[in-house]
Amino acid sequence: MNNVYIKKQNSYNLRQVTTAVSEILQWGGVDEKINADTTILLKPNMLSKSSPDKAVTTHPVVVEAVINRLLSFGAKAENITIADSSGGPQNPVVIAANYKGCGFANVADRCGVNLYTKLESTTVKTDGVMVKEFELLTPVVESDIIINLPKFKTHVMTAMSGAVKNLFGTVPGLKKAEFHMRFPDKDNFSHMIVDLAQTVKPHFTIVDGIVGMEGDGPGSGMPREFGILLGGENIYYIDAVICNMMGFKITIPPIMAAAVKRGLVPMQLPEGTVQGDVEVYRPVENFVMPKSYGVDFSHRVPRPIRWATPTVEKLLAPKPKINKAACIGCGKCRDICPQHTITVDKGKASINMKNCIRCFCCHEMCPVKAIDVKRNIFFNI
Ligand code: SF4
Ligand code: SF4
Repeated sequence: MNNVYIKKQNSYNLRQVTTAVSEILQWGGVDEKINADTTILLKPNMLSKSSPDKAVTTHPVVVEAVINRLLSFGAKAENITIADSSGGPQNPVVIAANYKGCGFANVADRCGVNLYTKLESTTVKTDGVMVKEFELLTPVVESDIIINLPKFKTHVMTAMSGAVKNLFGTVPGLKKAEFHMRFPDKDNFSHMIVDLAQTVKPHFTIVDGIVGMEGDGPGSGMPREFGILLGGENIYYIDAVICNMMGFKITIPPIMAAAVKRGLVPMQLPEGTVQGDVEVYRPVENFVMPKSYGVDFSHRVPRPIRWATPTVEKLLAPKPKINKAACIGCGKCRDICPQHTITVDKGKASINMKNCIRCFCCHEMCPVKAIDVKRNIFFNI
């Protein structure tokens, strides 16, 4: 099914969100797929240890509402697992602290479901374009049903982070950084993400857009009330809806460009794709794009030098820039950097730009928003 359900929802009141989620799941026929033996994996966005009001991670009320409904459909709490792997170096203690900080540990306690704090992975073969096998968190491979619970956010590297990009968290810990190293080119990286999405194949997705993020997401943007939940089976169609609401042409987010190229989603969604509260399906007014917006360099480069686009792109691409005054010297950027090009000295981080591949993992992980996206003046013209 390619249709996408949009549900107006303006608050994180648990009772209301449970009613809204129930409507979406029943529309999607999820209730018919659940019985007492079904093992279910819930994959929220847990980018980092971040309190829910910052809108960096999926709100715990959405996760709790989904659990409530799954239980009412006949699932057993012991068969439901919440699992995600944040960026950066991980161990069970760090992962447990992240679940706690994001509010998922309290939800798991209240509902009696499992939290996956291990880093155990299972190798899965795939016939991807860029990648032939992935190491995935073991419950991702072993669960009968995967429910993907992303956040409605911008992203400085991939323009937006929705249903498809959320699945990168099924790759454990620093193995994500290895993919950034293997695929420094954003188009190749995006094809790798599509390979991953085709491998994980979540059964259903509910996007938390009650409060999402605009500006320099996924970790340093501004929370913004969008007042919606989105649901559906087809992650590419869901992300196309997000593109339309954020105001991105579908081929601007490189992951979507890769999906379009592979015929997984059309350039324009067919009439009637979006169902539910269709009156709230429209471009968000005054939406703040990430500063890196305009990453499709080819159309911005003057025609006479377009042959030199890759070089020009490297020279003009947005760069991470450390705000020394704000830096607290925690070292999280240094630890996540796939190129090992960040050092911390006397409590302040520095980047050796020579080796930087502009993956913006450092920007994602900085807990105090001390890494800015510096946009070349050329792209402000
Ligand atoms: S400095 Fe930041 S943007 Fe550059 S490679 Fe390292 S993590 Fe990526
Ligand atoms: S820039 Fe941010 S992540 Fe890096 S050391 Fe400073 S505070 Fe920590």
